[in-house]
Amino acid sequence: MEALQELVRDLASARPVSDTTALVIGGGFVGAAAARRLQQAGFATTLIDAGDPARAASFGNAGHLASEQVTPLASIATLLSLHRRLYSAGGPAAFPPRDIGAWLPFGLRLIAAAAPARYEAGSRALKAIVAAALPAWHRLVGDIGATDLIREQGHFVVWEKHATAQAGIRAACATDYGYAAARPANDDELAMLGRYLAIQPAGAVRFTGTGQVIDLQALRGKLDDAFRQAGGIKLTGKIARLEITDGRARAVRADGTTLNADHILVAGGAWSGELLRGLEGSVPLIAERGYHIDTTLSEADWPRDMPPIAFGDRSAIITRFANTLRMTSFTEFSRIDAPVDPRKWAKLDAHADAVGVPKGSARTRWIGNRPTLPDYIPAIGRSRKAGNLLYAFGHQHLGVTLAAITGELVAALATNTQPSIPLAPYDLQRFG
Ligand SMILES: Cc1cc2nc3c(=O)[nH]c(=O)nc-3n(C[C@H](O)[C@H](O)[C@H](O)COP(=O)(O)OP(=O)(O)OC[C@H]3O[C@@H](n4cnc5c(N)ncnc54)[C@H](O)[C@@H]3O)c2cc1C
Repeated sequence: MEALQELVRDLASARPVSDTTALVIGGGFVGAAAARRLQQAGFATTLIDAGDPARAASFGNAGHLASEQVTPLASIATLLSLHRRLYSAGGPAAFPPRDIGAWLPFGLRLIAAAAPARYEAGSRALKAIVAAALPAWHRLVGDIGATDLIREQGHFVVWEKHATAQAGIRAACATDYGYAAARPANDDELAMLGRYLAIQPAGAVRFTGTGQVIDLQALRGKLDDAFRQAGGIKLTGKIARLEITDGRARAVRADGTTLNADHILVAGGAWSGELLRGLEGSVPLIAERGYHIDTTLSEADWPRDMPPIAFGDRSAIITRFANTLRMTSFTEFSRIDAPVDPRKWAKLDAHADAVGVPKGSARTRWIGNRPTLPDYIPAIGRSRKAGNLLYAFGHQHLGVTLAAITGELVAALATNTQPSIPLAPYDLQRFG
């Protein structure tokens, strides 16, 4: 025990299995994937997480490996359609008046990021990292013996209104997604959807080159197992703050214990801003909150191999996990600790009933924080103030999709080797 405390107090000097050490703050998918890749790059790695997995966005998301999401949501198109997307107009985007102090400055930055030149640059950056996402996941699940927990079987987008169906199919089929592709759903696919859905689709698109995680917790468990078996240390606790002295960062726990390492990675999802604000220039991160309801299924209720189905007119998606059918929706621009809005769960229940989600034996409810920056591009880079401080957060709607490639990019940063894609567009310096 004493030896462990010593190791924890000064990871850099303890040097248990390697000459160099890494400390990862945050055990969501981004932190867990990065910890594994840092470990494999030769660092004696410790991961610390606050401990309640339900806090993490990685716990309750839709598990969709979304290689089709190649354009940043900070766009003129989003701004022009905002009036239709507002929660008050029946859409998913909520701006609670009580949280105006959070979403107004964020919104102004989003508007600036939607300007054509920044949008074009953002699109190139997002497309590059999204194209690398699934291949990186295949490498990672191969490495940890979890190939059965990722399935690249595409997904459907279904529309119920003729006008939105025609426009949606046309736009999807005309888009160059890079890794993913879209085509109109064929008759067999429409018949299969018709067997399970209570709605009559006016049109549907089948994506290929996208996928899903079969069981989010099982995959995180496998990552943890591989990390621990290779000597990784996992700690439960909160880093209260980072301190920088003479160009080096160290992490301080709530009890005052200091953790030192050759590389410290901030991968705290929506909480990353709390750690970096005041240290790293502007970090305009917002909690873009989403809601889910889980319906516990029996085997016969919903086919195991049914891909995720997104409902274009409802801005909701359903994903078949091992024992549950999950519906997620809403983008509530808010604060991490703001009160939950139970009307959104009720609305999800209504959507679920309308589209034909079985009633199941029980439904559970969850809310979580997407870590979103105003240009909808993740932040992956090295601190300007401390040479040993790295960051990887701000993965917005795509944190599961991008976790494995982010892990590889973080390892390239830490080892000073050439990353598979240029990292300049993801640097926090873009916010000044
Ligand atoms: C409803 C919903 C649906 C979504 N669907 C999808 C989807 O289908 N596909 C997809 O790719 N993405 C999806 N996302 C987005 C995705 O969930 C997130 O982008 C992703 O989980 C972020 O991962 P992360 O590891 O960065 O953060 P998190 O998963 O939030 O993990 C951060 C962890 O860091 C810990 N932490 C933070 N600060 C500290 C500290 N100071 N000390 C110690 N620990 C700390 C937290 O406790 C937490 O465990 C969805 C999100 C929501 C809300």
